[in-house]
Amino acid sequence: MFPSEVTDFFKTQKTPFYYYDLDVLNATLSEIKKHGISKGFRVHFALKANNQPKILKMIKKAGMGADCVSGGEIQRAIDTGFTPDEIAFAGVGKSDEEMELGLQHDIFCFNCESPQELEVLNELAGKSEKKARIALRLNPNVEANTHKYITTGLSENKFGINASDLDKVLEKLPELENLELIGIHFHIGSQIEKFTPFEELCRKANALNDHIEDKGFKLSVINVGGGFGINYAHPNDNSVPDFERFFGLFEKGIKLKDHQQLHFELGRSVVGQCGSLITKVLFTKYGQTKNFAIVDAGMTELIRPALYQAAHRIDVLTSSKARKEYDVVGPICESSDTFRKDISIPEVERGDLIAIRSAGAYGEVMRSAYNLREANPTVYSDEVK
Ligand SMILES: *Cc1c(COP(=O)(O)O)cnc(C)c1O
Repeated sequence: MFPSEVTDFFKTQKTPFYYYDLDVLNATLSEIKKHGISKGFRVHFALKANNQPKILKMIKKAGMGADCVSGGEIQRAIDTGFTPDEIAFAGVGKSDEEMELGLQHDIFCFNCESPQELEVLNELAGKSEKKARIALRLNPNVEANTHKYITTGLSENKFGINASDLDKVLEKLPELENLELIGIHFHIGSQIEKFTPFEELCRKANALNDHIEDKGFKLSVINVGGGFGINYAHPNDNSVPDFERFFGLFEKGIKLKDHQQLHFELGRSVVGQCGSLITKVLFTKYGQTKNFAIVDAGMTELIRPALYQAAHRIDVLTSSKARKEYDVVGPICESSDTFRKDISIPEVERGDLIAIRSAGAYGEVMRSAYNLREANPTVYSDEVK
């Protein structure tokens, strides 16, 4: 968990706040280097998981590129040192302004998700006298077996170009003369814990790769996206995901042609385990059937439990009393503002500090100002003194 000097430092900070353990991040990055980047794969970091400049700079330094889903993220990537040739731009609804920003910087690749998007991008590229490199995001119809809100690779999802539209798109492409097709792109969902969906993705990707190359296109980029899950139940024992197995699966499963390179876009698995939300118990309430620990963080700081029924591990940092069952809840006037129900933790009292673990991905980035709540400064492990 946290050494006592870290907990003591937390006591001097205004809660709730996000805390990032940079040792965990560094350990994660070195595994990605060892099993991914050093094998010749290109690994992009999905900024939507976390966009703290300090974290992005470390990720950039480790040799990763940037996967952006908005103009704001493209700008953030550039501001934190990523060069345009390391930036990919994905998203089902890119605005004209966002596409123009990407064109203006001549980014590495636009991952395009619909026939109409291709036409609009072609037109905008023509206007700015640029040629846009594109990858087609294909919907491989793979069931990721994850929460329905983060499944993205089924035909019924809004993402990507369906197989039935692919040939029409390929026929049309030569007319879109300001676009250069350089690859294909997939992303089947997030927090995928089993390896079978990835194996199925490999089979589908290989077939589509062959199909498109047989039509005379040369694809240099085979991008299999991200989605690798983390262990929310046991973050201490699994602080770094098994990247050897993950990259190894694709190394074996994807049949690259000589001119092709394998690309990844990882978000959660890079930053999830390095972050915690530190919060203070405001009140305890002991009812007839339930006990409540009311903390000063809410769904405004971490929305994953409310949005995806996510269960984050909860560690009590300042109590080692006998355990009791609590619902750990936030202060927001919504019943979904609950971090965990019926969880057994050491008995807490007003003022105790709690860490909500594995909050480095899709945590701080989704913070909202609902209820006009103010954001407290982020704390990094290298600032603890
Ligand atoms: C969100 C997203 C990712 C990253 O997903 P993780 O599950 O965080 O690894 C990668 N690619 C695309 C297109 C995405 O939308």
